[in-house]
Amino acid sequence: MSDYTNETGKPAGLPEKIQHYINGTFVDSIDGDTFEVLNPVTNQPYITAASGKKEDIEAAVAAATDAFKNGPWPGMLPRERARVLTKIADIVESREQQLAEMESYDSGLPITQAKGQARRAAENFRFFADLIVAQSDDTFKVPGRQVNYVNRKPIGVAGLITPWNTPFMLESWKLAPALATGNTVVLKPAEFTPLSASLWAGIFEEAGLPAGVFNLVNGFGETAGDALVKHPDVPLISFTGESKTGQIIFANSAPFLKGLSMELGGKSPAVVFEDADLETAINATIFGVFSLNGERCTAGSRILVQRSIYDEFVERYAAQAKRVKVGLPSDPATEVGALVHPEHFEKVMSYVEIGKTEGRLVAGGGRPEGFEEGNFVQPTVFADVAPDARIFQEEIFGPVVAITPFDTDEEALELANNTKYGLAAYLWTSNLQRAHNFSHAVEAGMVWLNSNNVRDLRTPFGGVKASGLGHEGGYRSIDFYTDQQAVHINLGEVHNPVFGKAD
Ligand code: NAD
Repeated sequence: MSDYTNETGKPAGLPEKIQHYINGTFVDSIDGDTFEVLNPVTNQPYITAASGKKEDIEAAVAAATDAFKNGPWPGMLPRERARVLTKIADIVESREQQLAEMESYDSGLPITQAKGQARRAAENFRFFADLIVAQSDDTFKVPGRQVNYVNRKPIGVAGLITPWNTPFMLESWKLAPALATGNTVVLKPAEFTPLSASLWAGIFEEAGLPAGVFNLVNGFGETAGDALVKHPDVPLISFTGESKTGQIIFANSAPFLKGLSMELGGKSPAVVFEDADLETAINATIFGVFSLNGERCTAGSRILVQRSIYDEFVERYAAQAKRVKVGLPSDPATEVGALVHPEHFEKVMSYVEIGKTEGRLVAGGGRPEGFEEGNFVQPTVFADVAPDARIFQEEIFGPVVAITPFDTDEEALELANNTKYGLAAYLWTSNLQRAHNFSHAVEAGMVWLNSNNVRDLRTPFGGVKASGLGHEGGYRSIDFYTDQQAVHINLGEVHNPVFGKAD
């Protein structure tokens, strides 16, 4: 491939290096350690990032603790905090192009899809600004006896640990509710993609967020992330990432009895019944697994198709998958860009090879022609995949899909539920009863009926089984980031049985 170099698509305004941001100041690691960040198109390092350790986390937590105990943020009126959040949203929107370019360059996401992520990030801030202003809490009256009300309070320092897929947007998902409710935060973004996270600091400063409320420590999960999880002054951890990392974080949080929100992996089924609108179902299931390079937690990466339409579906699906345009992330015509990192590329490629022994390869199956370097993978489709196959059971997190036939609704449900995961499910049918009955029985935190993954921000987000614990989204996020203290007021005679009464 001759027409791209390390410089291709390089966004304007890249910082010289990526630093931590603690107490309103950009800083290097205390021990000076850094790591290299790679451009997924070439796998050449293009910038260094500070590699945080326990001491850096301690400094960040100390700043966040001080801002929580002594700063104005937790005690501000919701309207005042909402004003700051709205400004943040405005700034993110005004920098959409720059953010999208950086995100695309750092993560390998196609530029057109990175743009949508910046808009969604802004929307998260706008949404939680609205929500906290409209927030009301319960009050209960026991006539003549008691009034009880809920005094909702921010909890303290929230530790936010995020993955590398759509990093900026996923960070906004945690930052917006954590900040809206008056907490202070320490964010540990993914080590593969630290670039866009470093932009939050400037955005927050410009919007008027007080120093110390937002702190950022870059670095590896086993060092910086681990220190955040084990810090005794961080009562909340909101984590998005792999299920096995979630298990480690659960165990490490247990001695501290921390509040945990876990958004984990997925292997979501897309079930296409014979009465579905086939054209729409094919378009949606192509998009569902190949958008965002297939690096999407809710990807419909197992497609279950009713036998009567199976052959036609597979043929048309494979033909369309072959037409999906792989290209440079910076090219607006690109539909699948470069996977985030060579380690992840190797993992996805190993599943492509495993798939060749487990299913019938009908599209893709390797590196696209003309892309000899970088993390490019052809959209890959395996048909006739058995339910015990590894490519049916394990999360690949790339542009690779398994298609399996079924005969009856019961069989479809059994196949759909036959993995350890339970994040999303997509159903394609024109039968209303079937649609609802199947939705209720499928083991998934979220179901989309005749729809792609389009989510109203008020709805719960989260998985069941190995896909997560707890739900965020709308007021559920507000609940996670706040304590609901119950205050009980006596209105009547004091209910006061006297012990030790004098005779
Ligand atoms: P990962 O689990 O490898 O890493 C996620 C984050 O955890 C990173 O910041 C990492 O540095 C940190 N980390 C790793 N080990 C740690 C430890 N011992 N202690 C503390 N922190 C640690 O996940 P990833 O590869 O970055 O992301 C991809 C995964 O995320 C996929 O499984 C995907 O399904 C999942 N995901 C889930 C959702 C969801 O909402 N359910 C959304 C996006 C991604």
